[in-house]
Amino acid sequence: MKTKKNKKTKRCFKCKRTLKTTNFYKNASTYGGISSECKECNLVRSIEYGKKHRDERLKYYRKRYRENSEKMKAQVKAGRLRDPEKHRVQAARWAKENPERARAIQRNATRAYRSRKFGAMGTFEWKEFDGLREGFNNTCLCCGRQEPDVKLEADHVIPLSIGGDNDIYNIQPLCRSCNAKKGNQHLDYRTREIALYEGVSNG
Ligand SMILES: [Zn+2]
Ligand SMILES: [Zn+2]
Repeated sequence: MKTKKNKKTKRCFKCKRTLKTTNFYKNASTYGGISSECKECNLVRSIEYGKKHRDERLKYYRKRYRENSEKMKAQVKAGRLRDPEKHRVQAARWAKENPERARAIQRNATRAYRSRKFGAMGTFEWKEFDGLREGFNNTCLCCGRQEPDVKLEADHVIPLSIGGDNDIYNIQPLCRSCNAKKGNQHLDYRTREIALYEGVSNG
């Protein structure tokens, strides 16, 4: 029963199924002009290939990301030097449109600068501070006022300027005014707060 119709099928080299030629990719380099494996087998193979090379691919993307961000930074810097006023306007507009990102960048920059300045060890993650704040009921450990009545800041128990580390273990939530009053003193309000919480008088 060999008809013209049979010529439109092909046996897959991999799965050995006989399938319509439309189930094969065109491949000019093979005899007959179509691939020796069906589309399904080709897909399975690319998925396996993908898994095997995922790490390399990730590395590649990270590298690309780094390179791109370096390039972007260089472009932004060049623009700033060329036309400081235009740059200022653009940066302000971007910050207005991306307030969360802008705040995060600002905070990270400030922290990195202060850490560098004082040669502090460690860097706490902002989400660690979120956790710490929640642990203390979003309360200023000095005056006892709570968010959103006050804005809590990450205060260094031992200030960076007198050798404290930039680690979450050296951080306590204080409102802006208490933080300003504390200044460069070594004052740990956390122990008092924990003692009160546990119902133990601290004397
Ligand atoms: Zn197949
Ligand atoms: Zn306070």
